[in-house]
Amino acid sequence: MSFFIIGLIVLMVFLFVMEPFISGRKFPNRFISKKQLREKDLQTKREHNMQSIADLDLDNAIEKIPKEDYFTLRKAYVTRIENITRELEGLSKGGRSVDVKKQIENEVLVRRKSQKTAAPKSNGRVCSSCSGVNSPESNFCSTCGAKLTIQKPV
Ligand SMILES: [Zn+2]
Repeated sequence: MSFFIIGLIVLMVFLFVMEPFISGRKFPNRFISKKQLREKDLQTKREHNMQSIADLDLDNAIEKIPKEDYFTLRKAYVTRIENITRELEGLSKGGRSVDVKKQIENEVLVRRKSQKTAAPKSNGRVCSSCSGVNSPESNFCSTCGAKLTIQKPV
């Protein structure tokens, strides 16, 4: 009887140890899921950095942070997202290279549009090329550097 129990335990331990190899052969998904986990992690980081840029743009629009800090930080965030995007592209089989910088700006813009309620409703200047919000006195867009010609209320 005790031999039977010992035999059962040995079998269970054996199956436990061999499980990754057995299921790995049966379901190759096991290896993909590790990739997917990394992908999810990268996506979360990307999202986080993207939101940071949107927040940063907002801080800059209301002149909450010094200009040079804004540019340094923004550049750092953009670089970080670029790297994350590249790794994500490498993970997805496609590998087609998109204009990462343009993609980032578009996504930031989407976030900023949803943030508009928090932006000052004063007579700020809206950039015609990137719709960034600038102070009424500014002649150039603080986000993209374009010349601000038309004055529109926010
Ligand atoms: Zn602009």
